[in-house]
This record gives sequence, C-alpha cells and structure tokens, in this order.
Amino acid sequence: MATDWRERYLELADEHERQSTAHADASRDLTRLIVRLCVACSGLDPALDPHLNHLRKAAKAGSTAGLLREAGVLADALVHAPEQRARPGVVQRLLEHRGLGSRQIDDALKLWASVATDPARASAGQLDELAKVLLGALQTADGEDARPGLLARLVGKGAPGVAERPNQLLLQVLEVVQWPESVSATVDAFRTELAGDEAAWVHVVRKISDLAVSAMDQAQFHARSAETFLTELNHRLEELDRHMLGEVQRREDSRLSGQSLGNKMDSEVVTLTNSVRNSEDLSGLQAGVIDSLDRMQAHVRAHLAEEGARLESAEADAAQLRKRMRRLEHDTFDLRRQVAQSYREAMRDPLTGLPNRRAYDERVAQEYARWKRFGDPLALLVLDIDNFKSINDTFGHSSGDKALAMIGKILGERVRETDFIARYGGEEFVALLTGAQREDVLRVAEAMRAGVQDGGLHAKGRPVEVTVSVGAAMFGVGDSLDAAFDRADRALYAAKRQGKNRVVFG
Ligand code: GH3
Ligand code: MG
Ligand code: MG
Repeated sequence: MATDWRERYLELADEHERQSTAHADASRDLTRLIVRLCVACSGLDPALDPHLNHLRKAAKAGSTAGLLREAGVLADALVHAPEQRARPGVVQRLLEHRGLGSRQIDDALKLWASVATDPARASAGQLDELAKVLLGALQTADGEDARPGLLARLVGKGAPGVAERPNQLLLQVLEVVQWPESVSATVDAFRTELAGDEAAWVHVVRKISDLAVSAMDQAQFHARSAETFLTELNHRLEELDRHMLGEVQRREDSRLSGQSLGNKMDSEVVTLTNSVRNSEDLSGLQAGVIDSLDRMQAHVRAHLAEEGARLESAEADAAQLRKRMRRLEHDTFDLRRQVAQSYREAMRDPLTGLPNRRAYDERVAQEYARWKRFGDPLALLVLDIDNFKSINDTFGHSSGDKALAMIGKILGERVRETDFIARYGGEEFVALLTGAQREDVLRVAEAMRAGVQDGGLHAKGRPVEVTVSVGAAMFGVGDSLDAAFDRADRALYAAKRQGKNRVVFG
C-alpha cells in the first residue's frame, strides 16, 4: 500500500514539474514580449527611453512588484508624451535624422516654433509651408537606411512598409503573440479599442503589461497550490508510515503479551501440580486449586483487556487514516484535473482548436528523434494563407478570425490521425507527416491546398476566395531539424513568388 502511494506521489511530483515548466514557459514568453516591446519602442521618443529601459530591466529581473511599478511610471510618461512631443526637440531630431542641412533645419524650426506657439492663429500659408518641409524631410530618405518598423524589429523580420502608427503596431503585436484562451476576450476588447480611438494605444500598452503581470501571478499561484498539495501529500505519507510502524509495534506487543501469558500459565500449572502433589487433605487441595485458577483467570483477563485496548487503538488509527486518505484522494483528483486542464490549454491554439507552436516544438522533437532512430520517412509542411491581410482589411478582423478557424478545420481534416498539424502562429500552419513517401506527401499537401480553395468560405454573406501556399520538405540523410524546416520555409516562399496557391517541394 505504501508503495502505491509513493508511486502516486512520484507521478504527481512529475506532473507538478511539467505544469511548472508550462507556466514558466508562459511567463518567459510574456517577459520576452515586454522586453521586445521595450526594445522596439525605444528610440521613438527620448522622453520614454529611460522608462522603457527600467521596464525592460524589471521584466528581465522577473520581479512582479518592480514590473507593476515601472509599468505605472511608463503609463504616466505615455500620458504626458503627447505634450512633450509638441516640443521642437523631436522635430529637430527628425530633420537631422533625415539628413537636412543646418540652414534648412533652422528655417523649419523657426516655422515650427511660430506655428506651435499658437496653432489656432497659424495662417494657411504657414501650415502649408510646414507640411511641405516635413513631408520633404520624410521623403529625403530613400528608405534603405530608414529604421525598420516596430513589428519588423519586434519579430526580427525585414518588413518594409509596415505602418508605424502605434495603434496599428499594437494590433500587429496582438496578432503575433499567441494569447491564452482565458484572455482572448480581453485581447478582442483591445482590438476594438485600438480600431476606434487613435490614442487608445497609451492605455492598451498599460493593459498589456497588467495582463503580463497577472499571468505571472497566476502561474505562481498554480505552482504554489501544487506545491502546497505535495507538501500535504508528504505529511499524509509520513502519517501512513507512522500508522504502519504503530501496527507492527501493536503486533509485537500482542506477541509478547501472549508469550507472557503462556509463561504465567505454565508456572501456574507447575504451582497447581505441586499443590496437588503436596496437599495432604482435601480442603488444602481445594484452596490451592482455587488460588491457582483465580490467578490463571486474572492473567487471561489482563491479557484480553490489553488485546482489546490494542484493537481499539488500531481501529481508531485506521479510521482516522481512512478519512484523511479519502480527502487526499479527492485533492489528488482535483489536482490531476487542474494539471491536465492547464497542460491542454498550454498546448492548444484557442482560435482553431489545433495544437499550437509549443505542442509542435514538443512533437517535432519526438518525431525527429524517432526518424533518426528508425529512419521511417518524415516530411514537414509549412503552410501560409495567401493575401490574408486583405481578408482582414476587406471583411474585418473577426471575419478573418472565423476564416482562420475554418481553414484550421479544413487542414486538420486532411491529415491522418498519426500525422500532426499545428497553428504555428498568425496565419501560418505546420504539419508533420510520418511514414509517407514524397508522392504521398505531395498528394496530402495538394489535398490541403485544394481543400482550402474549395472550402466555400463566406464572410458577411459573401463568398471569400481564400488559398494557401505550401512549402514541403522530406527529412534527408544528415538533416538537422532546422535545416529541414529552413528548406520547407524557403519552398513556401518560392510558392509565394511563383504566384501563390501552390505546393512547392524544397
Ligand atoms: P502573403 O500571401 O504574402 O502571405 O500575404 P499575407 O497578406 O497573407 O501576409 P502578411 O504577412 O502580409 O499578413 C498576414 C496577416 O495575417 C497580417 C495579420 O493582420 C493577419 N493575421 C495574423 N494572425 C491573425 C489572427 O489571429 N487573426 C486575424 N484576423 N488576422 C491575423
Ligand atoms: Mg505569414
Ligand atoms: Mg500570408
């Protein structure tokens, strides 16, 4: 019995560790997001840079209190940023940054100062002139040395032409991050706010950091409750051990008591025999026998009383133990359910219901190890929806979301149970096909492509043309995971270059 509980304890300890890892991953992703946001936003406004720097340090240090404090300070600074931006310092930096000559800069600054002092009284001519200077400054750069946009810096890709308006940038950020299901309604509300009010980003940035902090707190809460449970479990196991030891001790006492009774009875029998042998008259014999029998009876009673007490204490102990164990079993069940639920959530993309990138990372590592060991064919597909941005732009973000969910379903239906498909992020999916030769892989990829094209997607009552491009790669001798992924990714971009809505093998 003790072994059973120890096994369960070890199993739970494993689950606790897995859960802690999943939570630690979520915290790490959020910390990374904050750090990246800080890095990406730095340089946009010198007044905000020190606060961004502090926020980034607090995120890196992993201090919840520090993070809250710095997020508050940054939010205040953001509120005051528009006033500060009105100062010529920023304009001056912009003009210098765009390489205007010092004379042009001086003229432009004078004009700016006279307009900014009392904008209501600026003449149309002054405003036109100012607009011309500023536009001229913006156009002088040929774009090559212009700083990359926030999204490009955030996700580390060259994405020329990404709009730099804060609301749009935040919308992009909201899409890049895979939010847990529990906050999807909040994130939707951010989207609505960002779409409706140009200044909403100030408030949304603060809310995002609040979200990060509360996610960290939640992760700590889950880890703590699991830890409390395991400590409790440990106590119960110690109690069980004590009970077992008590039981062993009771048996030993019982054995000794039986032995002592036996000895006493033996000696009474000897006394009785002697008194029978030695008694000279009937009344002496009678008194001797009665004495002996009385003592024997007393020995037996004492022994039975001791045994009764031992039995009672054993029963009381067992009843208490049973009660505690039942409670523990109940707690175990709750914790198991909680752990399983957190694990499922951590591995699933809430929008499409498909496994997410974390699940992919775990699975691809397993499949890769299996492929290296057994050498069965293994293929990787990378899929990206074509022109998805225009679907969002034409039908709205929530229609875009519905389209994504439907496409996820279509793709999921085209792979076998033993294969694997995940939403890799944004409008990209990735699939692993096991045991399939190149022609089979091509057939599955083609079925996916055709499935989406013929999927009959509708938005706002109108049919929507949606297609996907697919890059495919077979794992080959000496391939690393990254090398195979890279081949599939390059094949995907070849498919895009060749006109989209097609499958290309890398
Ligand atoms: P391409 O054919 O070259 O792939 O063009 P594209 O428009 O699909 O590619 P791009 O990378 O320019 O845009 C992808 C868009 O997908 C940008 C983003 O707005 C949208 N997107 C990413 N994730 C989501 C999401 O979860 N929901 C919605 N509605 N849109 C998303
Ligand atoms: Mg894409
Ligand atoms: Mg796309």
